[in-house]
Amino acid sequence: MPVSYPLVSNPFAEFYGSELLNEHYQLLEQAISQYLNPSDVEKVLAAAVFGAQAHDGQKRKSGEPYFTHPIQVALILAKSRFDVPVLQAALLHDVLEDTPVTKEQMTRHFGLQVANIVDGVSKLYELKHKGPLVVQAETFRHLLISCAKDPRVILIKLADRLHNLQTLDAFKDRPDKQKRIAKETMDIYVPIADRLGLFLFRIELEDLAFSYLFPWRYAVINHHYKAQETRKRQESSVKAMHQEIEPLFKALGISASVQLRPRYLSNIYQRMKRKGSFHESMKTHSIRILTDSIDNCYRILGCLHSRYRPIENKLNDYIGSPKSNGYRSLHTSVVNEVGQVFNVQIRTHSMHALAEMGIVAVWHQKLKNQLNQEEESHSVNVNKNMREFLTRIKDIQDFTHDPEEFYATVKAEMGAKDIRVFTPDGKPIDLPLGATPIDFAYAIHTNIGHHCVAAIVNGRDYPITQVLQHGQTVSIKTDPNAHPHPRWVEQVASPRAKTAVRDYFKKVSFEQASDMGKKRFAQAAARYLNDEVLIQARLEHYLLTNQLDKETVFAEIGYGKRQSSLLAAHLFDDYPLLPASTQAIKVQSALHETIHLASCCRPLPHEPITGALDSKTDGITIHRRDCPTTKSINQSNWVSAEWAEEVQGLFATQLLIDCIDRRGLLNEITHITGDSIDIRNLKIENHPETKTARLIIDLGVANRSALARVMARLRSVEGILKLSRT
Ligand code: MN
Repeated sequence: MPVSYPLVSNPFAEFYGSELLNEHYQLLEQAISQYLNPSDVEKVLAAAVFGAQAHDGQKRKSGEPYFTHPIQVALILAKSRFDVPVLQAALLHDVLEDTPVTKEQMTRHFGLQVANIVDGVSKLYELKHKGPLVVQAETFRHLLISCAKDPRVILIKLADRLHNLQTLDAFKDRPDKQKRIAKETMDIYVPIADRLGLFLFRIELEDLAFSYLFPWRYAVINHHYKAQETRKRQESSVKAMHQEIEPLFKALGISASVQLRPRYLSNIYQRMKRKGSFHESMKTHSIRILTDSIDNCYRILGCLHSRYRPIENKLNDYIGSPKSNGYRSLHTSVVNEVGQVFNVQIRTHSMHALAEMGIVAVWHQKLKNQLNQEEESHSVNVNKNMREFLTRIKDIQDFTHDPEEFYATVKAEMGAKDIRVFTPDGKPIDLPLGATPIDFAYAIHTNIGHHCVAAIVNGRDYPITQVLQHGQTVSIKTDPNAHPHPRWVEQVASPRAKTAVRDYFKKVSFEQASDMGKKRFAQAAARYLNDEVLIQARLEHYLLTNQLDKETVFAEIGYGKRQSSLLAAHLFDDYPLLPASTQAIKVQSALHETIHLASCCRPLPHEPITGALDSKTDGITIHRRDCPTTKSINQSNWVSAEWAEEVQGLFATQLLIDCIDRRGLLNEITHITGDSIDIRNLKIENHPETKTARLIIDLGVANRSALARVMARLRSVEGILKLSRT
């Protein structure tokens, strides 16, 4: 049956509240006729009439006809100029949930695309008799999975949520409901909007939710912020700055606009919590400079840094390496002569548009036409990244079948700050702060995670449990016979890896765990004696007196609930560890699953070493013989150790350099490197009182003589006052 509507002035004439419906619809029509052609405008109207008919007679809390709500949701999206399927889905978004119309009927009238989007935002009917938490979690899961199939689902949901918040005043008599909706918005929808780069939605949602969660604080901040005085002061400072830098831009032939950045209130509140007061939080001026090319962005940065004093560590180049949500800009903070601080964002006009639109820029005709090729490919990349993010969320669903766990996992995934590392062929992988190569391996594929044994980072060996840094290139070595260690659960940072490791151990059968435990126990026992019969006899005796089952004990070791080294120490406590001549542990590289080099003394090849059993990690820690820490180690935990004939890779060490703070010194120091030396990290502490600086350099070196050579060369650098190894 074709959709028909009467050709009268009010297409809603036959429905309850037709006047009001038409009034609302006129606003929508005005908005869409500015960018859609007449036949598309008709398609939108068809969806409006269909929706109005389906919801006919339903009322909102305010008494208005219910359908004014979907019209307003569509209007929010029309203001951002979204296309016909988005607008149709917005108009129909509550039809499946709240009216008898079925998905099949909707598909027949508006196509599968629109019906799928609406289905994605609909609550799951079959959950009606379950608890509220389960319903929330299940609905959320359904939403995200539909969103991974078609990101437009989230657009509708965010616009829906925005309008609900805008009209939440109607629930004055239900403050509990207002708070619940506001909290859910903060917990879920604000982070989603942020992750997808939908900045415009994010600000409005966050401020509205904030106003319901903390009405009193909101009112106070709003009052202060709107106060003439504050704004005037900010505006005049920015104007003064603009006048100072304008001539510099002109001299370089750069055209740029300098604006005071609108602040949003919940952000001011976050700053207040950090800075202590409203006044303090408003002391810095937030400025945005827009220009027309990337080249100009960097030149503007140069101008600012030559005119004002830049604040250390505040320069962020998100043009060179964009944030994971595609955001690009240069960020810097500078101070003028009178101590005013300016936080400056520098970006091109189209970066700005993309920054406010994020993933949905793809459905944004006007923006698409403006983009040049470089930006076009960036926006395609943004879209790809976002789809990957959504796919990652979908993956979590494959691991966990408990909706509440899913909800918590995804919430953590969205809240986490990111680092970005790369595969050897340059594919970016976003991981939470604190992620290790194990996280990286799981991000590539679950099976790579399960079997990863070693990592190469920036071309060098890297422990798989060491935290990764932004920008590193990582590759993983796997071994089909290797398996996750129970300790990994604590050593990984990404929810995905955590879930995968947990899941692995849930699935590891009792027999497999028992088998793993048996092997680990044999290794631990071999440190004491090599008489298999005696080992078994002691073990059997121990099991009998404690009424334990052997397979269970082994399985507990395999699952990581019991330490093999502790059990061995208990069983063979009357045996000294085997003499060095036969049983010395050979240390071959800095990267060994169970042998760790102590961070207190950082032993290097050729130096006398000793090992200590570490009951916490179930491994052995290698110290320098002269390390003071070894004095506190229980004699019975000592293991003799020596360097292997041929060691592999580089070993970590740290140098402290006290030096005169002179220009060029850092450059000279960092150039003293060779084949066998690798600077891994460098920290500078400035001491302006004495005009000196302290450098703390983390190095990777092949052995002690390589370090000695570097130290000798460093001693010849002019201006170095003191050089020592920590
Ligand atoms: Mn709705």
